Amino acid sequence: MVSLYLCLLAVFAEGSSVGSFTWANKEEKPALTWPHGKVYFALAEGEFTRIQTAVLFRNLRRLEAVSCVRFLPKPPSQVAHIKFRNVRHRCAASIGYKPNKILDLYIGWPDCHKTGTLQHEILHGLGMWHEHTRQDRDQYITVFWDKIEQGKEFNFKVSPKDKTLSLPYDYGSVMHYRAQAFSKTGNEITLLPRDQSAFRVMGQRKGISMVDIAKLNRLYDCPATFYRGNDLNGVSYISKITSRHQLPARFYKLRDINAINDGSKSDEESKLIESTTGPQNDLTKENL
Ligand SMILES: [Zn+2]
Repeated sequence: MVSLYLCLLAVFAEGSSVGSFTWANKEEKPALTWPHGKVYFALAEGEFTRIQTAVLFRNLRRLEAVSCVRFLPKPPSQVAHIKFRNVRHRCAASIGYKPNKILDLYIGWPDCHKTGTLQHEILHGLGMWHEHTRQDRDQYITVFWDKIEQGKEFNFKVSPKDKTLSLPYDYGSVMHYRAQAFSKTGNEITLLPRDQSAFRVMGQRKGISMVDIAKLNRLYDCPATFYRGNDLNGVSYISKITSRHQLPARFYKLRDINAINDGSKSDEESKLIESTTGPQNDLTKENL
C-alpha cells in the first residue's frame, strides 16, 4: 500500500522585508525570505525526543554549512519564527517568512525525519517552492492531468510567485516530485520528464542538490564564498545524487567543512535512521 503524506503549503501574501539585502533585478526580488537570513525557530514543547532533536539540529547545521542562512533559537521578544512540530505522519510546511507570524513546520516522525524530507520541508519554510511548479516547467515536464487523483490537481499548478533566479530546471531537486506523485493508481505517471534519464532522480529525498543550494544562496543573496551556481550551464539539469550525509566539499564554505562532518552520530541515532523509511509521496495542499 502506498502511504500518503501531507505537505501543506499555506501561501502567504507577498511583501516581506528583506532588510538590508540588495537585489540587482527588482523582478527577481523574492518575498517570503527571512530578513537578513536570520531564521528564528523553536521546538514545540514536549514533542521531540533528545534523539529527534539531534537529527533536526544536524540538518539545520547542514543547511547552514552550505548557505548564509542562520537558524537562531527564538528569543522571547521575537514573534515571527518557525515552530517545529512533531505530529506523527505529518510532513507539512508553509511557504516562507511573514512578519509577526508563527510558521508551523511539521516534521512528524517516523515519516519525515530523513535528510531530504526534512530539508524539503525546511526549504519551504525558507521561502522555496516546488521545482516542478516553476513558471517554465512545461518546457521540461508534461503533466498528465487525467492520471492525477481527484482533488489533488492543485499540486501541479504553476506557482506564480516562484522565481527561477536564472538557474536551470533541476529534475534532481529535493523540491521536485517523483514521476508517480498523486497518481490515481499509485503507479501511473503523472509527471513525465522530457529527458527520460531524469526518472532516476525525480522525487529523490537523499538531500539538497547543487541547484537547490545555488537557489537558496541566490534567494538570500549570500556572498560569493557560498555556492551560487555560477558554473551551471544549460536550461535543465539532472543533479547527481550524493550521499545523504554529504555533498562534495566544494559546496561548503571552507571553514564549515569540519562542522558538517559529523561522524559522531550515536548508535542509537543510527538505528533510528536506518529502521524507518521516508515518505514515497510529498503531498501538497495550498491554503489559498
Ligand atoms: Zn513540498
